[in-house]
Amino acid sequence: MTALLDPVAAAARASTWVELAASARSCVACPELVEVRTQVVPGLAAAGADVLLVGEAPGAQEDAVGVPFVGRAGQLLDGLLAEVGLNRDRVAVANVLKCRPPANRKPRRGEVARCRPWLERQIALLDPALIVALGGTAAEWFMGPAARIAALRGSVHLCDGRALLVTYHPSAAIRFGPAGAPLAALREDLAEVARLVAARGPAR
Ligand code: URA
Repeated sequence: MTALLDPVAAAARASTWVELAASARSCVACPELVEVRTQVVPGLAAAGADVLLVGEAPGAQEDAVGVPFVGRAGQLLDGLLAEVGLNRDRVAVANVLKCRPPANRKPRRGEVARCRPWLERQIALLDPALIVALGGTAAEWFMGPAARIAALRGSVHLCDGRALLVTYHPSAAIRFGPAGAPLAALREDLAEVARLVAARGPAR
């Protein structure tokens, strides 16, 4: 009988994002997600990326393509990044969950816990200068269950020694529409990310 992949041990063994992605693709820690996923969506980081954007979980398009933020939310995000002048090559993207939950339901606590080693190892390997938590699930992953976006956004937090900004998820910006508060807040917060990145100078 083949032993099931242990995410904790497999993530720890990975020494690059590419190696980690290869291991994560055979993760079967969450049977309900394994049953409905097309593929695992580990994340994407260009060489030299120094900002990590963390979302919730892949949606239908991400599940089909295998890359985070390629659907509607991703298109909005790409537009805003271009608008604020953040070079896409400096930005890595990953999610709290690497598999799409059925019908895009919220990730369950057990799923988040089982998936945690992958994102923890991605952060360690990338060693980003700044992490941006997009939405409540990512905010809670970093700041704990009491995390509230409205209270946390607007300042840089230290989380395990890393600089963290918390802002709204692009899906919330879509849901509340072009005149809604989440879009304005997201735009403002990404502009702040661009300022912080510019202050660091050229990509490493
Ligand atoms: N929403 C997310 O949180 N992540 C994605 O990759 C796509 C949509």
